Amino acid sequence: MQPFAYTAPTTVKEAVEILTKHGDKARPMAGGTDLLVQIRGGKFNLDAVVDIKKIPELNTLSNDSKSLNMGAAVPCHRIYEDPKISEDFPGLIDAAELIGGIQIQSRAGLGGNLCNSTPSGDGICPLIVLSAVANIEGSNGKRSIPVEDFCTGPGTNALKSGEILVSLSIPNQGSKFSSAYERFIPRNEMDIAVAGVASSILIGSNGKIESARVALASVGPTPILAKKASESLIGKEPGEAAFNEAGAIAKTECSPIEDMRGSIDQRRHLVDVLTVRTLNKSLERIGG
Ligand SMILES: Cc1cc2nc3c(=O)[nH]c(=O)nc-3n(C[C@H](O)[C@H](O)[C@H](O)COP(=O)(O)OP(=O)(O)OC[C@H]3O[C@@H](n4cnc5c(N)ncnc54)[C@H](O)[C@@H]3O)c2cc1C
Repeated sequence: MQPFAYTAPTTVKEAVEILTKHGDKARPMAGGTDLLVQIRGGKFNLDAVVDIKKIPELNTLSNDSKSLNMGAAVPCHRIYEDPKISEDFPGLIDAAELIGGIQIQSRAGLGGNLCNSTPSGDGICPLIVLSAVANIEGSNGKRSIPVEDFCTGPGTNALKSGEILVSLSIPNQGSKFSSAYERFIPRNEMDIAVAGVASSILIGSNGKIESARVALASVGPTPILAKKASESLIGKEPGEAAFNEAGAIAKTECSPIEDMRGSIDQRRHLVDVLTVRTLNKSLERIGG
């Protein structure tokens, strides 16, 4: 690992200035649980690492009846240790509790997971099905984009040079809404998902599904919002028939590769099974 300057700015403006000055030769660091491994592995040859954990804005975590706002450097343990967030957003807790182990969760967060932008990132699909929005800031000002549009390829994303993810905003959709995330890994923990699925449903006053989202991990170059599967659920009675149909559609909306972790057929089958499971879990969480 080549020597690099360590900086720890206390404002977004300062962080953006340093990142803009160094261009490709600098990277933001949140928990560092991906970044430091990647620097050691030679993926980056950096002049500066910009520690963003000292910026108050990136460490805020607020949850009210309207929305959850989560700074990009908030570590996983702060998310699942908050009883109200656990109650309101159980699908987010599914992810925060399974990323790495306790030590990793005390540093790593969902912001870093998203910015690392791997198709297998366990935090990304749970954010997509919650309709999370990524709030970004750079030298040209602020902008916000839906999380489903954030990742552009394996390890690449919509951030421009010098830009940082400041926070994630998640609407609170009330007690008739819930979500869930499940992944399949060969071991019980500390592994990369062979496939993962997050689902969410909102039940309307007529008892039918008013809106739904299904998102797929590890089965394409980016996390995928399975639009056809999601739309297939709308207006239906929540239950076996609608969920099985969504699972069957979801497995046609991915483009998995074959590698040492699993075959294409196995991954498609997992998408089907996990879609049904996570939809059932979301419904159970609503009390259905
Ligand atoms: C032992 C171990 C187990 C793991 N298990 C899992 C697992 O089960 N599931 C899983 O998904 N991942 C896992 N990971 C990977 C990693 O822990 C997660 O991806 C984690 O969420 C990364 O968060 P971080 O805050 O540490 O990110 P960092 O390492 O700080 O950053 C990751 C990338 O995003 C960039 N970045 C970070 N924050 C910002 C920002 N605000 N704006 C712009 N760019 C930013 C960095 O420059 C870097 O390129 C594991 C890693 C280890 C070492």
